[in-house]
Amino acid sequence: MSKLSFPFLPLTTLDTLWFQVAGTLCNLRCHHCFISCSPENHTLGLLRYEQFAPHLEESVRHGVKEYYFTGGEPFINPDIFRILEATLAVGPATVLTNATRLSEEKVARLAQLRDASIYSLELRVSIDGFSPETNDPIRGEGTFAMAMSGVQMLVAGGFLPIITSMRSWPIQDDDSFLAEFRARLAEIGYLHPRMKLLPSLKIGQEAERDHGYEKYEFVTEQMMVGYDESLLLCHNSRVVSDKGVHVCPILVDKPDARLGSTLDDAMQGYRLRHQACSTCYTFGALCSNATGSGMEAARQSSAEPPAHMEKWKAALP
Ligand code: SF4
Ligand code: SF4
Repeated sequence: MSKLSFPFLPLTTLDTLWFQVAGTLCNLRCHHCFISCSPENHTLGLLRYEQFAPHLEESVRHGVKEYYFTGGEPFINPDIFRILEATLAVGPATVLTNATRLSEEKVARLAQLRDASIYSLELRVSIDGFSPETNDPIRGEGTFAMAMSGVQMLVAGGFLPIITSMRSWPIQDDDSFLAEFRARLAEIGYLHPRMKLLPSLKIGQEAERDHGYEKYEFVTEQMMVGYDESLLLCHNSRVVSDKGVHVCPILVDKPDARLGSTLDDAMQGYRLRHQACSTCYTFGALCSNATGSGMEAARQSSAEPPAHMEKWKAALP
């Protein structure tokens, strides 16, 4: 049997910096959450302004070009507006939110920050179905109505939020899913929505809800030959939490993904040893704001393991 060897991916440049501003804390407890966020998960805590500021300063020295804010739910962090204001002074920002904690007052503050900056402020809203019947079993009772209300407020505030949904249906149903969802969004005044479909990351709660990875689902050194490494988030980004700097938001709660306390510490490569890396490898551009490429890659994929994994599937016990 061939021995598996995991590829080492160097950090080429630090273009993108993520902040895990809500740690693993969230007002929801979605059944597919790949880092199992909930109101009780204190594995990673809120990133307060005082902890955030030195990393932002350091990021400017490293030439970071854009910033993302995630959790957990970013709007449970009482410092989020101060954090965004500081960020928008140096670069564009995107906030990933479940939109259930938005209010007209908060959207107005976001609009003020956006209008005061030369950089863009984007919102990405996670909704996993086009109705309460399709969304709420995954994200919780009443979450569809709350999130759609949040989207409506954002649209009224002049934002064009990117609606992201994790594919929990057969890939052949993408078109009908998107058509249904566009119709629902049109009803609340969002006429030409930006939408992004994401593959499931079969770790955390999602491994319980559906299933985990198969034994053969890894990335190997051989698979990287001729592969475009720039498709992987970790080739040019890192994520900061209250516990330090980690390789990527997908693995942020994995002890071996913490690279140090500062960005200087984290300017090193990483060996792609986790099974979740195989999802990045197959779909690419998972975490960027791109609404087309990730989806097209996903459409070209299938439920079967990719051909490059077949030999490892055969080789493993
Ligand atoms: S998927 Fe998002 S909204 Fe749901 S529990 Fe996880 S962080 Fe919270
Ligand atoms: S999960 Fe994806 S982004 Fe994270 S280290 Fe693996 S390949 Fe890179």
